[in-house]
Amino acid sequence: MTLDARSLIKAYFAEGTLPGLPDGHFIGGRIVANSDGDRLESYDPGNGQAFARFGAGKGEDVSRAVEAAQQGLAAWRDTPPATRCQVLNRAAALIRERSDYFAVVEAVDSGKTLAEARGDARSCIRLFEYYAGIADKLEGRSIPLGSGLTSWTEREPVGITAQIIPWNYPSSTFVRGVAPALAAGCAVVAKPAETTPFTALLLAQWLHEAGVPAGAVNVVTGLGSDAGAPLVRHPSIAHVTFTGSVATGVGVMQAVAPNVTQLTLELGGKSPLVALADCDVDKAVEGALWAIFSNAGQICSAGSRLVVERSIHAEMMEKLVARTRTLKLGHGLKDPDVGAINSRQHLDRIARHVEAARGRGCSILTGGSATHDPASNSGWFFEPTIIDNLAPSDPAIQQEIFGPVLSVQVVDGEEEALAMANATEFALVAGIYTGDIGKALRLARSIDAGQVTINDYWAGGIEVPFGGNRKSGFGREKGIEGIDAYVRTKAITIRH
Ligand code: NAD
Repeated sequence: MTLDARSLIKAYFAEGTLPGLPDGHFIGGRIVANSDGDRLESYDPGNGQAFARFGAGKGEDVSRAVEAAQQGLAAWRDTPPATRCQVLNRAAALIRERSDYFAVVEAVDSGKTLAEARGDARSCIRLFEYYAGIADKLEGRSIPLGSGLTSWTEREPVGITAQIIPWNYPSSTFVRGVAPALAAGCAVVAKPAETTPFTALLLAQWLHEAGVPAGAVNVVTGLGSDAGAPLVRHPSIAHVTFTGSVATGVGVMQAVAPNVTQLTLELGGKSPLVALADCDVDKAVEGALWAIFSNAGQICSAGSRLVVERSIHAEMMEKLVARTRTLKLGHGLKDPDVGAINSRQHLDRIARHVEAARGRGCSILTGGSATHDPASNSGWFFEPTIIDNLAPSDPAIQQEIFGPVLSVQVVDGEEEALAMANATEFALVAGIYTGDIGKALRLARSIDAGQVTINDYWAGGIEVPFGGNRKSGFGREKGIEGIDAYVRTKAITIRH
């Protein structure tokens, strides 16, 4: 699709739909209709209107996709690694060429802002380029056993991998699994979230166009219970990468157990941003603002808890509230600061959390209600919200809200800050703002999290491994570690 963003946006607001959206699953290198003809509607969260339909996949569609993946695997596994590099680089180039269209589709389907969707397109490009660079470097080692024996290891693809994708980062979560899986020589069957199916379908088509053989990447859309559940249970699936909520992740873990299928779990978070008394308060305010309000707070790794030292608490709150009140909400294609909440159902969930906090007498400094795009008086939005001075046991501290809601905890000193940072069942990300490098390093090593950033909450990129501990899951994606789930080691020894 070569249309530029401006023409696409104009056409979308005039017609209420977008051109070129795939209508069906992507199986065996082509778009195919759903086995029973059943379809679901996809809604634009920015105005609450349905804009396209997609297949409501069932077990039969999953079986067709896994069969196609068996053929795709045979072809792709034997494709020379150098060719795999070239194909993945071509896929990156296609996304770059089509990034206007891609970003507009992602913004409409998910509710995020166009700037955020463009950022996701860049992540997809980088992920393909990064793992293209690894495809031809999956080397083994030789093992010294003495004369008469020669032993070495090879790293082989695990086989067919299932990718279960959430709705908050529909394209970049898809690619962060698919790129290393393809680099390793695996085949893929992916199941996007039921509210955001389109960019995964587009990417699967473009990968095929770039040279990925038919069947090596398949996408089955539909509900988790109808399409996701049969996929993860399928005996031909060698590895499942699941990104989503803790409750569903636990169910997936149980579902894969009988087949002893490998599993990566990327689950929820309640990540702390620790602001110590000696930090640069203005930088910490800006860091905290975007740690929670990027993507309207719908990020597993959002800095959803601010753990602040008492002596800077009042100053920080004053500045943070003032800055929060400047944020403009709106339809993602109008490129506001904060976009929509992905579904009506999730908006209600966020509102219930905040209502319950209000009912407990919590201090809501700003925001606190569901709202609309002020320009159209429609869509699913939640005001950027700050709840102050919460007790460690408060549900707003312990539970993932997954929306634009910052929960604040006040502490005295580094030791209490550490204790609070670690005092939830999650352990995904932590941010530390301080002018004292000694404190920064002590905290970075003692906080239980998969990744810690110092004096910038979102520092890093696709080169940096990402994943959680405890109820945030296990396994790592991105970075060189991201390939590990998709290769297994085989040792071969010869007596001679
Ligand atoms: P969800 O668990 O409801 O759904 C995630 C995916 O699982 C969807 O595709 C859904 O259709 C599918 N699914 C549902 N039931 C299934 C089943 N029985 N078997 C197989 N698949 C099934 O999560 P969500 O609401 O879409 O996403 C939000 C959650 O995801 C939050 O908790 C967030 O923290 C988490 N998340 C984590 C990361 C991470 O990298 N750690 C990234 C993004 C989101």
